[in-house]
Amino acid sequence: MSTHTIATSLQTETETSTVIDRRWQEALQTLITDPRELITLLELPEEALQGALASAKDFPLKVPRPFIEKMKKGDLNDPLLKQVLPIHQEQDAIPGFTYDPLEESESNPVPGLIHKYRSRVLIVTSSQCAIHCRYCFRRHFPYEDNRSQGNHWSKMLHYLQQHPQVNEVIFSGGDPLSIGNRALINMLNDIETIAHIKRVRFHTRLPVVIPERLDTPLIEALANSTLKTLLVIHTNHPNELDTRLAKRLHKAQQAGITLLNQTVLLKGINDCADVLSELSEALFAAGVMPYYLHLLDRVSGAAHFEVSEKQAQTLYKTLLGELPGFLVPKLVREIAGKESKTPISVF
Ligand SMILES: *Cc1c(COP(=O)(O)O)cnc(C)c1O
Ligand code: SF4
Repeated sequence: MSTHTIATSLQTETETSTVIDRRWQEALQTLITDPRELITLLELPEEALQGALASAKDFPLKVPRPFIEKMKKGDLNDPLLKQVLPIHQEQDAIPGFTYDPLEESESNPVPGLIHKYRSRVLIVTSSQCAIHCRYCFRRHFPYEDNRSQGNHWSKMLHYLQQHPQVNEVIFSGGDPLSIGNRALINMLNDIETIAHIKRVRFHTRLPVVIPERLDTPLIEALANSTLKTLLVIHTNHPNELDTRLAKRLHKAQQAGITLLNQTVLLKGINDCADVLSELSEALFAAGVMPYYLHLLDRVSGAAHFEVSEKQAQTLYKTLLGELPGFLVPKLVREIAGKESKTPISVF
């Protein structure tokens, strides 16, 4: 596509931006939260219901319809379904799996702001996610105390001003894209006034589960910022990358936004070199570079997803043989108290 056609197509969509906005907001308002409904929609066996109801009490089921559309009906082993369906095993207390595995509450100088790594801070932009991933390390995070609204936002800006070693702000959550474009643009504009901040990065899964969230006003706002902007999406399986999503990502990339992906290594979902290699290929085809392959954070309720470090190393060696170097994500683990993610060596 030439630059000219892109500009034209962006402009056409801007004119109907309210309509586009409504589409993702509607998808957010019609999330599936009742395990019975999910089981009926996907024609799953009834015996899945009991576990789903029991485990949804601790961390509710939440999944958008566009994500469900990518799942195979009648298949309890569907790799996307397994990421969202609550099951009995979540109730098992497993030694070593805790409520705050990353000890984030230790590096929380202002409510909603986490400063663990020297040059970048993470901001809990929204307490909401469009989807609840069963393996999420924030499944027990006290979001209610950590919203970046009102008062907190000015305290955060003040903190950024006082810390010249910080050159990058990460909008995280929850999911930062669960709030509207207007609010995001206001935050972006505030950050642009701080001279030592060079980049803003969004860690988001929302476009993956509701592709329309990557709408033209958002793409334009990020592309037009005086800051470098990055979107780090989160996909775990190639089935998540359908053409609807790929089209949006491609557009964002063409507009000059850097696109990266992070994956969590999950037992029974993507613990196989072929699946991971297919994922990297699909990401690249959509304009996204693989960034991190995370070992699971040991949060209580997620033990059944864990792939051992040894298995991960073996798998990673196979991956190195299958992919060009630039499509191999970095294999890392997060260790509480460290100054960066910790690379896992395989040789
Ligand atoms: C992961 C993380 C970051 C970002 O780390 P990068 O290695 O720069 O991607 C920043 N802050 C916190 C608290 C994190 O958990
Ligand atoms: S923070 Fe990310 S991994 Fe956790 S539930 Fe939200 S979208 Fe899923």
